[in-house]
Amino acid sequence: MAYVVTDACTKDFVCVAECATTAIAPAQDDPAAGTVSQVYINPDECIDCGNCASICAQSAIFSQDELPADKAEFAEKNRAYFN
Ligand code: SF4
Repeated sequence: MAYVVTDACTKDFVCVAECATTAIAPAQDDPAAGTVSQVYINPDECIDCGNCASICAQSAIFSQDELPADKAEFAEKNRAYFN
């Protein structure tokens, strides 16, 4: 059960540096960073450590099984970014 970034993300990129793997993209120095409205978590790389959610100042990141109902669409939006 991966973690999911929602649209409360302000792209401060703090979570990207804190991720235990390389699950969160794009990185701040990635050219794609300027073209997206938020960062995304690759559910195939996330190991559910929770580091990103605990450090997010916007509380934009949730475990997939704790996603608020009005943010449910972001599980698929996160996965889709990596397809
Ligand atoms: S839960 Fe851990 S592994 Fe998954 S995206 Fe967050 S920091 Fe990375």
